[in-house]
Amino acid sequence: MSLIDSINGFKEENDAVIVAHNYQAGEIQDIADFVGDSFGLAKKVTGLDVKNVIFCGVEFMVESAVILNPDKNIIHPELKAGCPMAEMVDLDDLLEYKQKNPNTAVVSYVNTKAETKAESAICCTSSNAVKVVESVDEPKVLFVPDKNLGHYITRFVKDKEVDIWDGFCGTHDKITLDDVQQLVDKYPDAEIVVHPECRPEVVDMADYTESTAGILRRAHESDKNHMIIGTEKEMGHRLKKEVPDKEYHFPGNPTCQNMKKITLEKVLKSLENLEPIVTVDEELAHRAKKPLERMVRIGRGNE
Ligand code: SF4
Repeated sequence: MSLIDSINGFKEENDAVIVAHNYQAGEIQDIADFVGDSFGLAKKVTGLDVKNVIFCGVEFMVESAVILNPDKNIIHPELKAGCPMAEMVDLDDLLEYKQKNPNTAVVSYVNTKAETKAESAICCTSSNAVKVVESVDEPKVLFVPDKNLGHYITRFVKDKEVDIWDGFCGTHDKITLDDVQQLVDKYPDAEIVVHPECRPEVVDMADYTESTAGILRRAHESDKNHMIIGTEKEMGHRLKKEVPDKEYHFPGNPTCQNMKKITLEKVLKSLENLEPIVTVDEELAHRAKKPLERMVRIGRGNE
């Protein structure tokens, strides 16, 4: 029996659903029941009438799914798949900042650990970050952890003071102007769409700055044959599947190694044994859920 047949067999036998992030390897996306971005997947899980969910993504995404779905078994095929950017927020440093700046609202990107969310006033995604920062009452905001997304926010939010944490996503931050220019030279008519986790100068060069869901939407809407996409290269798998009539080019070919720690073999093992089930301390989950729920109330919290 092939690996794929075994995965499908155990999925049915154990009443499980597989969800995968857009940056998972193509073969993982292909066996998943749902593919999407982190918060979109966590919310998707909420609507599923199933007990066991194999979550193919990195730690902070799995944690969010656990926090929002305490009634389900959220299973992570590779516990060592973490996110270096989420690790860039040291809890003690954040607590010290809060103590020194008691009237500043902490806005955290969903790409953070539960302990960071628990200390935040509200969370945001890459698509609603501007709207969320605009929504808080406080005149001063601390945005954590991504400095590039933080700078992107300040392009639009002019009536608040925004302190920005010094974190970044190594996958997006490594995309340079030079990488983009090389592709522009080759495909001068291409539409350039980049993720707001990219450096400010790369954002300046783009026609559109979008979350992964927005990038997919642009692919559907654009009349260009070539698109230069500034995000993790595996997004190309989904783009090619859903909008096959275009060519997608990824400057610098950025790869998130943590996303690739999940393999078909590990998914099969998780399906077979229905473990490891991820848990989040109840009190921590309670505190981390509040800023997530507050974001959902603001709207567009699905990307
Ligand atoms: S792509 Fe960046 S933000 Fe996403 S998991 Fe990898 S390192 Fe973290």
